[in-house]
Amino acid sequence: MDLEEYRRQAREWLAANAPRDTPQDASQDAPQDLEGGAGSDPGGGVAVAREFMARLYDAGYSGITWPKEWGGQGLTQAEERAFAAEAAAHTLPTYVFSIGLGMCGPTLVDLGTDSQRRRFIRPLLRGEEIWCQLFSEPAAGSDVAALQTRATATDGGWVVDGQKVWTSVAQHADWGLLLARTDVDVPKHKGLTMLIVDMHAPGVTVRPLRDMTGRAHFNEIFFDGVHIPAENVVGRVGDGWSCAVTTLLHERLSISSGVGMGGQKDNPVAFEALRRSADTADPVVRDRLVELHIRSRALALFNQRLAQETRAGVFPGARGSAAKLLLAELTMFQADLATSLAGPGAVAWDEDDDAGGRLAHALSLAPAMALGGGTNEIMRNIVGERVLNLPPEPRTDKNVPFKDLRTSGEAAR
Ligand SMILES: Cc1cc2nc3c(=O)[nH]c(=O)nc-3n(C[C@H](O)[C@H](O)[C@H](O)COP(=O)(O)OP(=O)(O)OC[C@H]3O[C@@H](n4cnc5c(N)ncnc54)[C@H](O)[C@@H]3O)c2cc1C
Repeated sequence: MDLEEYRRQAREWLAANAPRDTPQDASQDAPQDLEGGAGSDPGGGVAVAREFMARLYDAGYSGITWPKEWGGQGLTQAEERAFAAEAAAHTLPTYVFSIGLGMCGPTLVDLGTDSQRRRFIRPLLRGEEIWCQLFSEPAAGSDVAALQTRATATDGGWVVDGQKVWTSVAQHADWGLLLARTDVDVPKHKGLTMLIVDMHAPGVTVRPLRDMTGRAHFNEIFFDGVHIPAENVVGRVGDGWSCAVTTLLHERLSISSGVGMGGQKDNPVAFEALRRSADTADPVVRDRLVELHIRSRALALFNQRLAQETRAGVFPGARGSAAKLLLAELTMFQADLATSLAGPGAVAWDEDDDAGGRLAHALSLAPAMALGGGTNEIMRNIVGERVLNLPPEPRTDKNVPFKDLRTSGEAAR
């Protein structure tokens, strides 16, 4: 189909099916509808999101560039960009699927077995199943290879014991992409395996954690003798680190392009409302708004280039970390600007002032962008070492068996 016609049809479909990007409608995508206990959905937001994803998929707009044989549309980046350009005027209620669409799904497309792709990709794209990413632990965030959750071989599969934390949307998840330690006799990066875990399996406990926005964006998860069948290994046993690097690459690209973490959806609406109320005749205010626009546009173009390279088979590698770092810095720039423009209105607003509440939410969420998906310091380390070829940090534990590391403690033995 001609691209103009594709875009016209997308515009029509969105007009009929998606909420407009107005301050009122933005709440439909906001995480407040998704908080609550494990499996609960008090605001009905998850049910609305699932139903919307099914319609999006059936209309041919979910997984636009994903391979057709696994349930995607098999179209090109041109169609994806055309749809995104039209969708920018709306707030699509897809936040709860952001981890699956941005990280877990692309990892399965790259590394999964055919039966895994056949089983999991279509339900993910159609919103029938929600995914979470189970990497970080209380003592393994930046240094995720130091994780201690153990998967022990058993008849027909693995038994998992341990704890994860910071797990976004896990209170609603059906499946999780888990990184676990399967061998403590080798150095920390070599004894890991990636597994698909059923979040409804016996022994999985999900506890939502409330952050400073007052909402539960992430959770802590406990695994207590959880059985995972052998066919749920992603990649090879012991090769979990290279699988995790693939996921992290997708994570950084998806966050910087606004798919992962869902954060970008909330912000433009709040900041747009603020821009309207700010004194744009003031040359200083104008100057800062122009800088915001230039930085946003430059990042969008950088993301577009990385996405084009990826589709063309050129691995963007550590430059994805540069894009993620730029987004985190842009988000803080926006937040500082908004705070200085709004003054006391950034922290106090009338109960019936929806825009004020949304602005406060966006401002308290802004620092999370510098943590989730890897901190700014870690992104700078990666860019320094792998893009600029600066000398690497000393790594004294690289060749030491995990069980002999002081940080691994008793749990590793
Ligand atoms: C909103 C949000 C959502 C998240 N969602 C998920 C999720 O779905 N799944 C998941 O697995 N994880 C998730 N995370 C976890 C996230 O990946 C970690 O928070 C992050 O990697 C940092 O780890 P940490 O919090 O343990 O901090 P630490 O690693 O303890 O770091 C503490 C501080 O030390 C600095 N630091 C550490 N090492 C170095 C170094 N070598 N050089 C310089 N500075 C260093 C860090 O930059 C940071 O400032 C999420 C986090 C947030 C905030």
